Amino acid sequence: MSQVPVALEVSNIHKRYGDLKVLRGISLQARDGDVLSIIGSSGSGKSTLLRCINLLEKPNKGSISVNGEVLKLKKKKGVLCPTDQKQLAKIRSRLGFVFQGFNLWQHKTVLENIMEAPVSVLKKNKREVEGFSESLLEKVGLADRRDYFPSQLSGGQQQRVAIARVLAMEPQVMLFDEPTSALDPELVGDVLGVMRSLAEEGRTMLIVTHEMKFAREVSDRVIFLHNGRIEEDGKPEEIFKKAKSKRCRKFLATAV
Ligand code: ADP
Ligand code: MG
Repeated sequence: MSQVPVALEVSNIHKRYGDLKVLRGISLQARDGDVLSIIGSSGSGKSTLLRCINLLEKPNKGSISVNGEVLKLKKKKGVLCPTDQKQLAKIRSRLGFVFQGFNLWQHKTVLENIMEAPVSVLKKNKREVEGFSESLLEKVGLADRRDYFPSQLSGGQQQRVAIARVLAMEPQVMLFDEPTSALDPELVGDVLGVMRSLAEEGRTMLIVTHEMKFAREVSDRVIFLHNGRIEEDGKPEEIFKKAKSKRCRKFLATAV
């Protein structure tokens, strides 16, 4: 048994929309420092899984725990609802979500975007947050853009600001939902480079991605979703060289 603490544990998550069963019993575990890539065809339930993990979507069944703390949920009208809003807020603040579409505040500068949540949600000292935010901008290669507005940046730069904004909350687990799929191909590399350096720093990350080369090189484990189930879960070399599942092999043959 590994001694490394479990950062995120998801057990038997089910989610349906009407008659459509999107997730059919997903269980996974990420230990501190693990980088897990989630791959699978469009519509296989990848985004729904990430959204269930931080309760942007309410699952019908299952449990979620972060750092050993189980999210308190109660079934109401068939879906699991949080019963303790304070606990939900705390658990959410430990999960940093990076979306496909950046979602930056357009009327705030880059620096203000990064400082907003630590100052207003975590009530941290503004001066300290400013210094920390500047160091994060440096980390994502945008120190010289601190006073720009999002509209003055490329998509790749905006996504790197979004990553810095998540880092400013010092999350225990980072969740990425296809962070590069809205970007022009020439901008993808810089964002993946930042993610790679975060992985090398030992951050715990759950990454939904279509970037197979990245998944292969950076992940500790790769999880293939199919029809709302985990069809394959293993080390990248196992998955990419000798996946047991025929569907997974077929997916990889067309995706790479
Ligand atoms: P992926 O991210 O793997 O492409 P999604 O998790 O976005 O897949 O979607 C999985 C399935 O669930 C799709 O068939 C999608 O149409 C459906 N779906 C997702 N969100 C909703 C929703 N809010 N209402 C109804 N159906 C949804
Ligand atoms: Mg998706």
